[in-house]
Amino acid sequence: MNNNINNSLLWLRRDLRLYDHNALFQALRKSKAVYCCFIFDTKILEKLKIKNDRRIEFIWHALKEIKEDLNNIGSDLIIEIGDPVILIPSLIKKYKCSALFLNKDYEKYAIERDKKICNTLQKDNIETYKYKDQVIFEEKEILTQNNSPYTVFTPYKNNHLKKIFNEGITQFDCEPYKINLAQFKNKPLQSLEDIGFKASNISSINLPLGTKGGRTLIKDFKTRIKNYNHHRNFPGIKGVSYLSVHNRFGTVSIRHLAKIALEHNSEGSSTWLNELIWRDFYFQILSNFPHIQEGKTFKPKYNDLKFENDLDKFNAWKKGNTGYPIVDAGMRQLNSTGFMHNRLRMIIACFLVKDLLIDWRWGEKYFSEHLIDFDLSANNGGWQWAASTGCDAQPYFRIFNPLLQSEKFDPDGKFIKKYVPELELLNKKEIHQPSVFFNKSPNNFPIKLGTDYPFPIVNHALQKPKVIALFKDAS
Ligand SMILES: Cc1cc2nc3c(=O)[nH]c(=O)nc-3n(C[C@H](O)[C@H](O)[C@H](O)COP(=O)(O)OP(=O)(O)OC[C@H]3O[C@@H](n4cnc5c(N)ncnc54)[C@H](O)[C@@H]3O)c2cc1C
Repeated sequence: MNNNINNSLLWLRRDLRLYDHNALFQALRKSKAVYCCFIFDTKILEKLKIKNDRRIEFIWHALKEIKEDLNNIGSDLIIEIGDPVILIPSLIKKYKCSALFLNKDYEKYAIERDKKICNTLQKDNIETYKYKDQVIFEEKEILTQNNSPYTVFTPYKNNHLKKIFNEGITQFDCEPYKINLAQFKNKPLQSLEDIGFKASNISSINLPLGTKGGRTLIKDFKTRIKNYNHHRNFPGIKGVSYLSVHNRFGTVSIRHLAKIALEHNSEGSSTWLNELIWRDFYFQILSNFPHIQEGKTFKPKYNDLKFENDLDKFNAWKKGNTGYPIVDAGMRQLNSTGFMHNRLRMIIACFLVKDLLIDWRWGEKYFSEHLIDFDLSANNGGWQWAASTGCDAQPYFRIFNPLLQSEKFDPDGKFIKKYVPELELLNKKEIHQPSVFFNKSPNNFPIKLGTDYPFPIVNHALQKPKVIALFKDAS
């Protein structure tokens, strides 16, 4: 390919790496000098109410690494704070660029923002080049025989796998072309305070940061991938990859991960590949059914379910004080680390909707504020799955029993004890339902319920018929 563009601007967004990067690869091959930039988009930042948000610090570390890597080869990363609709055209002018390169974003806000920028640039004959990078297959790449989007996972997955096997996975090796990075020096990286934020507890939660951190996690997971199918449902076992935040911000490449899964060729790796395909599945749902981005249920008939929405119960759920140890442990993991194990996300989302009778949208919002890996597509997909309002969701009458889930997936209570230390003295049986054992013999029980740890805020058996009636009314 000729590099017939003189200067171009590469805009990094949720693709914070310099390897296997589609837009960077294309920009480097088509241009004589590529300027890389990142904008802290104040329209997004303004909505973040928690000032020590872990995600901002995660991004900050990733940018620091990219800036250092670029500095090592004579280039730099331009970092600005403000509205990209104004800043991108102004950077294009400042650096005399004749093209903008970026990887596509599939969320409504970003699509509209990017369209505005593209239109502004077009007026000055500046071309915008957009690429698929976040997902393996996007939008309408995998359709049913009737050319409509899939709404059921299994046939989608089968077709996805067929396409992977037929087409292979193309990676974008930027290394040989990095000679075309613009040689210049920019101002130093702003502090978190300059961006309007402050340090979080990210450095104490043992989360490897940046592309290097992503590589560390990949290396570690490769030694465990063969057991993924056996271990992935147990929060007390190191069974999953913990790569979701890196997928969210693109500090690893999804094609790289898919290749690892394919090359490993074990039951564990194919189960893991399925999870990467779930990710693509929810991205295509977001693109093809955009109404879900506006707080609407995937299935319209469930839009106005008559939830009880009791604020005290919601607050107890948020704090991890429901009296259901597995739920409380998961919520406390979320609050203290920003991560929650997938099995717990399912149990806890189901519990909020079907035991507490609270609108799934309240839970979705809380997760969106606290999850370090928050992704609109997967979060909405997960919540609507648990709430039985989504595509390919669990049926409304299928209601997780938190006690059975706890006994099955944290049999020794190891995970519960880590996050609910007041239950430390309870044995394997007591830990899952302390109130039952306490009520039998309050004076001999190691802790005092109601003081040391709450009684259950609802009775699971009594809630079940209520939620079924609620759905039946709307069906
Ligand atoms: C209510 C609910 C909310 C969720 N919210 C999010 C969210 O905001 N962001 C997010 O990335 N995931 C979300 N998930 C999916 C899943 O829980 C996380 O991706 C997973 O726990 C991350 O851990 P891991 O990286 O170790 O995953 P692994 O088990 O190692 O899986 C590998 C990768 O596959 C992807 N993945 C795995 N499971 C799913 C899934 N069910 N849907 C979509 N992608 C998946 C993730 O990118 C993950 O990193 C949610 C699930 C539920 C039930």
